[in-house]
Order: sequence, then structure tokens, then C-alpha cells
Amino acid sequence: MLRVAVVGCGPGGVYSVGALVQHGDVAVDVLDRVPSPFGLVRYGVAPDHPKIQSISGALEKVLEHPAVRFLGNVEVGTHLRLDDLHRHYDGLIFANGASLDRRLSIPGEDLPGSTSATDFVSWYSGHPDTPAGRFSLDARRVAVIGMGNVALDVTRILAKSHDELRTTDLPDHVLQALAVSRVEDIHLIGRRGPAQARFTTKELRELGELAHADVLLDPHDLDMDEATAQRVADDAALRRNIDVLREWSTRSPGGRERRVHVRFMLRPVEILGDTHVTGLRLERTRLDANGNAVGTGEQSTLDTQLVLRSVGYRGLALAGMPFDTATGVIPNVGGRVLRDGGVAMGEYVAGWIKRGPTGVIGTNKHDANETVAALLADAPTLPRAPVRDPDAVLRLLHDRGVDVVTWEGWRAIQRTEARLGQAQGRARAKLADRESLLRAANEGVGHA
Ligand code: NAP
Repeated sequence: MLRVAVVGCGPGGVYSVGALVQHGDVAVDVLDRVPSPFGLVRYGVAPDHPKIQSISGALEKVLEHPAVRFLGNVEVGTHLRLDDLHRHYDGLIFANGASLDRRLSIPGEDLPGSTSATDFVSWYSGHPDTPAGRFSLDARRVAVIGMGNVALDVTRILAKSHDELRTTDLPDHVLQALAVSRVEDIHLIGRRGPAQARFTTKELRELGELAHADVLLDPHDLDMDEATAQRVADDAALRRNIDVLREWSTRSPGGRERRVHVRFMLRPVEILGDTHVTGLRLERTRLDANGNAVGTGEQSTLDTQLVLRSVGYRGLALAGMPFDTATGVIPNVGGRVLRDGGVAMGEYVAGWIKRGPTGVIGTNKHDANETVAALLADAPTLPRAPVRDPDAVLRLLHDRGVDVVTWEGWRAIQRTEARLGQAQGRARAKLADRESLLRAANEGVGHA
């Protein structure tokens, strides 16, 4: 039987596990550095998107397969090195995602009050690496840079009232911060035009349906040249987006407590402030012949106290693994890792670390199938790992002082989260710090 380790328990990892157990005679350990499974389904999907969150139900079924073990709170690179993995497993699939964010590389970016949307998402999702006090929401004006679905998520969460979110699974400290939020104006800023925006129509539409926020858009922001107008006419998905935006541009402020200002063709050039963000200098742009945004020299300043850059995720290099710093992925061909120009024996990739941070959750399924097909095709010739006792890796982790969270531990965390939530009239409330997660996992094991 082939022994495989999958590093990362997000969609890319779990779909790989699913394909492995469906087609191969395998035993799979799926490792994650946090105590819980599901990666961005738990720590990325917005709390007011329960339908997308419910994908975790399907992922859960995969992880309950008898040939699969979940090993949470195990960090590859720290608790287990690459050579440890090779000693215990015949095949390795790296599906560790893209945990960093891209930067704007403009002056003032590191001022307090300027951070990434992914940091904000991690905070409201209760990621154990993001402290509860990370955001206080005392800014009146917020600038969100970028025109992708993450920008829409953070804008929507900032624009919604506490009442609209109180039945979600947001951690208690996030709900408390939202209850006293002073946010009034959110500026969603894109460096290119509406026809170049990356969001999807369903997500875009939601922003126009907010009960407590007006969405405002200058009709001139929808001006486009003939070639672009033709491209929009020929592309149904794009046309739907433009129709939504066009309808918004006809709206007048309805007197709601908050306002979302959607603004195109502006690029941030400097984040202003001495000890904290006080403003954002923007430059009007135009598109060059290649469709890139170039500055026109026309500048303006926006008063803002919080700047969230939502300009994409970025992969993180793992010790011992090759890494392409330009693209932020592990170089590979069809999921087989490339090392020194050749295919590396027994090493594979899936998900965002394979193809970059693009696509929706389902995209990972096709992607994982390709990777697993490559692994299973190679299986007959893969050298077998020297250590074949499945418990050996658990002993090693124990000896290294790692508090491994098993599937049973995760079940216990779920029960605690459900208890916490139900006491407040919601299905569950997330535990947000590692200590509480580990305590729940350890106390609950054996007390199902
Ligand atoms: P994204 O879709 O790649 O969007 C990034 C945005 O940042 C683009 O508008 C891009 O503009 C802009 N940008 C990049 N560099 C910039 C710079 N230096 N200055 C100003 N703007 C800059 O990334 P994302 O929103 O992080 O989403 C990641 C993936 O997750 C996407 O596939 C997304 O669909 C998915 N996702 C899906 C959902 C959902 O389905 N509900 C929710 C969240 C995320 P340019 O086009 O000009 O580069």
C-alpha cells in the first residue's frame, strides 16, 4: 500500500485526498499547520456565505474515509522537515495554498492602518495566527484597493450591520468590534476599468443589495472605448457585471448609515500619515495599448484611516522545496514538482501553490485530479519510504512536543463551537485562538 502525505487541508488538499482514496490502494495523512481542517473554506469564505461554507460538509466526508488521517496543528518546515516526510511517505502532495498577500510597493504601506485584506479576512474568520485585537474598526473612512472577490467580501463585511451578521459563525470578539464599528464610507478602488475587474457577477450584485449601505458609482467611471464596448457586448459574463454597475450608477444616495463608493481608473501612489494612516494619494489612470494601467499625473487625496490592499494572495516558500519567486508557486509540470530542471521523485503539488491564487473552490477539484493521476501513474516506480509503520510519524511528533489534533479532536472542537453558538442563538461560534482550539480538542477527545 502506498503511503501519501498531503500538506495542507484546504480544498486543494482535500480534493487530492478524495482522488487518492477513490483510485488508489493508499493510506493518506493530511497535515495542516492549524488545528482545524478546510483551509480557506474555514478561514477565507465570508461568514455571510453559508452556502459556500457548506462545502465543508463534502470535504468532511472525504476526510472521514478509513484510509485517511487528519493531523492538525502540524507545521511542515517546523515540526516535520522535508526529509522526515520522505522517510515516512512514498508520495508527498503539497497543497499548502498561498498564505501571503501581495503588496502595493508604495510609500506608507507599512504605516499602522495600512494592511492587507487577507489580514482582515483572517481576523474576522478567527484564524488562530491573527490576534483578536488586530482590528478595532474605529476608522470612519476605509479604502479597499483591488477589484476582485476578496475586495467585495471585505467591503460587504465592513458595510453590513452587526445585526445582519450576528447569526453567522463570526468569533465573539469580531461581532463585538462590528457592534461598535464607526465605519461610514468605504471606497472600493480599481486601477483599471469595469471591464477589467476580476469579480464575479453574483458576488458583485450582493453589494447593491445591502440594507444599511448605499452603493454609489459615477456614470463616467463606466465610459469605455469602442473596442472595450465590443468586448463587453461579446462576453455574457462581462456584460452582466457592467449591467449591475450601470444600474448602480443611476442610483442616488438613499440616506443609509454607510456608503460604498465604487471607483475605477485610480491607482494608489502613496499612503499618507505620520504615525497612522490619515490619507491615500491616488492618481487617475488610463490604459495603455497592452491594457495596463498607467498614471496620467492627475492626483487626488482621499481622507481615510484604514487602507486594505486586496490585490491578491501569494504563495510561501517551504524549506527544502523549490519555489518560483516571480509567480509564487512551486514549479511543476501537471502537478509533478520540478527540481533543478527535472521532475522530482515522489513530490507533487495541488491547489494555489501549484497554479497561483486563482479560481473558485471547485477549480481545485479538476486540478487535484490531474495531480493525483500523475502520482498514481508514477506509483509503481516510486521508491518506497524506509519507515512503514503509520504510528511512527505520530511518535516523532509526540517526541517533538507537538500537540497533534486528530479527526476526533476536530470533532470535539466542532462540538464546543456549536455549544458556544447555540447559547447565543446561532448554529456555531468560532473559537479564534490556538490555545482554545487545542483545549477544546484535548478535552473533547474521548468525551463524544
Ligand atoms: P484577484 O481576483 O486576482 O483580484 C486582485 C485585484 O487586485 C485585481 O482587481 C487587480 O487589478 C488588483 N491589483 C493587483 N495588483 C494591484 C496593484 N499593485 N495596485 C492596484 N490594484 C492591484 O484576487 P482576489 O480578490 O484576492 O481573489 C483571489 C481568488 O479567490 C480569485 O480567484 C477569486 O475569484 C477567489 N475568491 C472567490 C470568492 C467567491 O467566489 N465568493 C471569494 C473570495 C475569493 P488588475 O486586474 O489591474 O491586476
